[in-house]
Amino acid sequence: MKAEIIAVGTEILLGEIVNTNAQLAAQALAQAGIASQYQTVVGDNPTRLIDAIAIAEGRSDLLILIGGLGPTPDDLTKQTLSQHLAVKLVEDKNAIAKLEAWQQQLNRKMPANNLAQALYLAGGEPLANEVGLAVGCYYKTPDHSYFILPGPPREFSPMLAAEVAPRLPEIAGQPQKIVSKMARFYGLGESFLATQIADIIAQQQNPTIATYLKDYEIGVRVTARATTTDLATAIIEPVMQQITARLAPYFVGYGENQRLPNEVVALLKQAKRTVTAAESLTAGLFQADLASVAGASSVFAGGFVTYANAIKTELLGIPAAVIADQGVVSREVAQQMAERARHLIGSDYGLGFTGVAGPEQLEGQAVGTTYIALARPNEFTIVQEYHFAGLRNEIRQRAALAGFKLLYD
Ligand code: ATP
Ligand code: MG
Repeated sequence: MKAEIIAVGTEILLGEIVNTNAQLAAQALAQAGIASQYQTVVGDNPTRLIDAIAIAEGRSDLLILIGGLGPTPDDLTKQTLSQHLAVKLVEDKNAIAKLEAWQQQLNRKMPANNLAQALYLAGGEPLANEVGLAVGCYYKTPDHSYFILPGPPREFSPMLAAEVAPRLPEIAGQPQKIVSKMARFYGLGESFLATQIADIIAQQQNPTIATYLKDYEIGVRVTARATTTDLATAIIEPVMQQITARLAPYFVGYGENQRLPNEVVALLKQAKRTVTAAESLTAGLFQADLASVAGASSVFAGGFVTYANAIKTELLGIPAAVIADQGVVSREVAQQMAERARHLIGSDYGLGFTGVAGPEQLEGQAVGTTYIALARPNEFTIVQEYHFAGLRNEIRQRAALAGFKLLYD
């Protein structure tokens, strides 16, 4: 078994970027005991890419193609391999659904060049891209195996760890079972997370550990291979426990799609508790996220969107003088919003959100400054101050999620 890495990208040839992806791919091959005998770099040019592929096929069994999966006209890696192998490209349903959701969010129609990112070689396996929109692909012919992976390192490296590395032993002729498990964390940065578990990641061979930034949560996927599924699971569990124990304050659950709101609804249901909110800067985002969880009606009866100061007074009864004295973006106002909403709806918990989503500052408070209060039964109300980074809607989304985290804790 001999492998060859083909990095596609004119930027690499021009010396504008360093070919770090090839370094990581080479390390993965070495760990799997696969001889990595050649590395090629080729520009974004289909004719020369076909040349490079043909040469690689003449001397290697496994080809790892990196880059050129994006939506722009110079991204032609899949199309070129499809033409070279005379295999059609087909759509990956999951990736199409993801693209559609993304387009819907941007409120735009889906141009054909974007759809191209969801294509993979017919008869191959699509490789999920948790971070970006371009799916990868694993394709086998009787003589060769091919991986196609996206170029951006934050997409490439988790896919290498989660999709490629676990398949390498089998490609090398040691058939094995692969099991993986995802843990999700909220409220910390990806680089902070990586340093916290750097020593665990550094020992990674089996299991492999990949981190993803996803919807403001960070996913850590641990993937193991062994001769049986049970053995692979037994390899994962202690490592997973080590990771979740070390990052316990940020841990929000296991599994792929269970985001924080799902966890919170499940916990409230279990405890037979209800929640409401009065939202200013988030203007209903928290409640919309809550209601997006199936079965939310058993924990949520309704709440308030109180954007303008006058409405905070009119609907919630917060005295205009309090708002004038303390400022609308203040601990006091967040606390009153939470407590009054809780009281008016008759819920167990009440949240209050007030802050500056931007782009302009408000009452001299910087963009991102946010107070979130949590009113609770028989206990004092918690008020937290946050300084969220990002654009207006990112700040609003982060604030809504911070509310879930406050409730979750
Ligand atoms: P995109 O959707 O961004 O176009 P892509 O899969 O088409 O993704 P490329 O267009 O080849 O990938 O590269 C995108 C970016 O990823 C490059 O500008 C570069 O910053 C980075 N990149 C690409 N290839 C490599 C590599 N081999 N090593 C390190 N970084 C890379
Ligand atoms: Mg590109």
